[in-house]
Amino acid sequence: MSQHEYDPKNMRFRRLGPSGLRVSLFSLGGWLTIGGSVQDEATKEIMKAAYERGVNTFDTAEVYANGQCEVSMGKAIKELGWQREPLVLITKIFYGTGAKDPNATGLSRKHIIEGANASLKRAGLEYWDIILAHSPDVTVPMVEVVKAFNQLIQQGKCFYWGTSAWSAEQISEAYGIAEKLGLDPPLADQSQYSALHREPVEKDYLPLYQKHGMGLTIWSPLAWGLLTGKYADGIPKGSRFDVNKDSFGGVINSLKTAEGQAKLEKVRKLSEIAKELGCSVAVLAIAWAAKNEHVSTVILGASKPEQIIENLTALDYIDKLTPDVLDRIEAVLAN
Ligand code: NDP
Repeated sequence: MSQHEYDPKNMRFRRLGPSGLRVSLFSLGGWLTIGGSVQDEATKEIMKAAYERGVNTFDTAEVYANGQCEVSMGKAIKELGWQREPLVLITKIFYGTGAKDPNATGLSRKHIIEGANASLKRAGLEYWDIILAHSPDVTVPMVEVVKAFNQLIQQGKCFYWGTSAWSAEQISEAYGIAEKLGLDPPLADQSQYSALHREPVEKDYLPLYQKHGMGLTIWSPLAWGLLTGKYADGIPKGSRFDVNKDSFGGVINSLKTAEGQAKLEKVRKLSEIAKELGCSVAVLAIAWAAKNEHVSTVILGASKPEQIIENLTALDYIDKLTPDVLDRIEAVLAN
């Protein structure tokens, strides 16, 4: 295979919510890595490793590395000589890129449209497949938000829109407005979901899957790395918690509490199940997240190509999570 050709290998694809769009079950995101701790050459290696294993979906945001994640991803796509059509590219608008003026962030029509234009320019793209509202904005009327994202679709700046970290009530409100106005509703939420963080995906959103067939792109499937087991005996040098001590200070401190220790104990017990299956606990945790039928794509993060290569072997373990194994995992997580 030439590196320019997209080869789906044995990747699985799921429709994103009720749309016709097919996303790879595993995708690659760039938060804290691409354009940040991971520079251009390594970005290319990580993206290439993912793409060659069938990943078609890549996730970024205007705020990641203050816009540099979009720059670096766009540059990698160009330098790797990839065609645009096989890719599903997602960005998110809300937090801006560091400018301080009052309209540089949020979900006003102005920031949604200007933010999308600026992000396309940074990435060197003509369109995003999906643009998400990275956070709810209670200061803006929902009708303005729904209309502005539809304007982006009508202008060809993206094909679909969605939400990230919105409450079920906020998503329902957006659906209601879109339906009333005959506009596109949000297609999917982007939510935190892992064996150590199960709400709102397993609870609050249930009515949204049932009523609207809402899709889900899920983030931090390894709970920022905790589910790799590498934090069992402290913070390894060069790991995410070490490199981003300030942002993860609360999480690092919480690991010393009884609750934090209980989490680490769960990871240790999950490692035993993983060992019996012949995989790492990271791979087990990723396969577990993909097993949830409401999840359209599990967004993986990686600071090194070896990580994405290992994590994508989760594809081979999804079917090994039989009802018996799932019950054993559930027993660990429940305690
Ligand atoms: P994870 O929970 O999977 O954490 C990924 C990190 O864990 C890696 O960067 C690496 O960090 C470590 N890691 C991954 N695999 C391994 C391995 N096999 N062995 C050892 N360490 C490993 O996901 P993220 O938190 O990165 O989230 C994934 C994506 O989701 C983001 O890139 C972003 O696109 C999206 N996201 C969206 C959010 C939103 O608000 N919508 C919020 C957060 C993320 P290291 O090596 O540095 O320790």
